[in-house]
Amino acid sequence: MKDRLAHNLQATKQRIDAASERYQRAPASVQLLAVTKTQPVEVVREAYLLGQTQFGENYLQEAIAKIGALSDCNISWHFIGSIQSNKTKIIAEHFDWVHSVDRLKIAQRLNEARAPMPTPLNICLQINISEEESKSGISLEDLPELVAQIKQLPHLRLRGLMTLPAPSSDFASQRASFAPIKHAFDALNAQGAGLDTLSMGMSDDLEAAIAEGSTMVRIGSAIFGARPTKGAG
Ligand SMILES: *Cc1c(COP(=O)(O)O)cnc(C)c1O
Repeated sequence: MKDRLAHNLQATKQRIDAASERYQRAPASVQLLAVTKTQPVEVVREAYLLGQTQFGENYLQEAIAKIGALSDCNISWHFIGSIQSNKTKIIAEHFDWVHSVDRLKIAQRLNEARAPMPTPLNICLQINISEEESKSGISLEDLPELVAQIKQLPHLRLRGLMTLPAPSSDFASQRASFAPIKHAFDALNAQGAGLDTLSMGMSDDLEAAIAEGSTMVRIGSAIFGARPTKGAG
């Protein structure tokens, strides 16, 4: 198990390096966020001991337990799951980053809850390009106004954009779902938004995301193996 984890982590880094080179990205411009939802705390610790320091979690209760159990480790914790407004306080108090901010009300509540802490909370705005009703995320049309509003919140630091496109096994269509996010990111920066993070790409589409300018890939199953399907057991 331990050897397999080391192997998978190394192989994932090699995929990131190979894609960065192929698509002429600056060296070290793509960070690896290890997604540890459903993984036990011992596995997270193993990955940490192998040198991984940034971890992403989706489910709040599970995450809070792991954050507590690993408080002796110098880990940067990223919340990437959907946010219920009554959970903003606990999120703001325990995480370093939140990738899944998708409305002003959530941002305002995170800002308020973060106020007593010495550093602002890093956030990304989750964009929904597939325009599926069921998926969370804001539309690109609503983005500039939300950015302007969030810029006013002193305890949040707006770092960039995140997206979670509908799965596709076709490389060209994977790229096509990431491209508009990169375009919006560049347009915001041209107006002085100062964003440095594009959170795009998972186990099955990291190459396409890197081709389209991702600066942080969120990788779970390629490192930790397939997750049990939700609801089983
Ligand atoms: C689970 C998850 C990931 C990781 O997905 P894999 O396909 O296992 O790499 C990335 N981002 C989000 C938002 C997730 O929920």
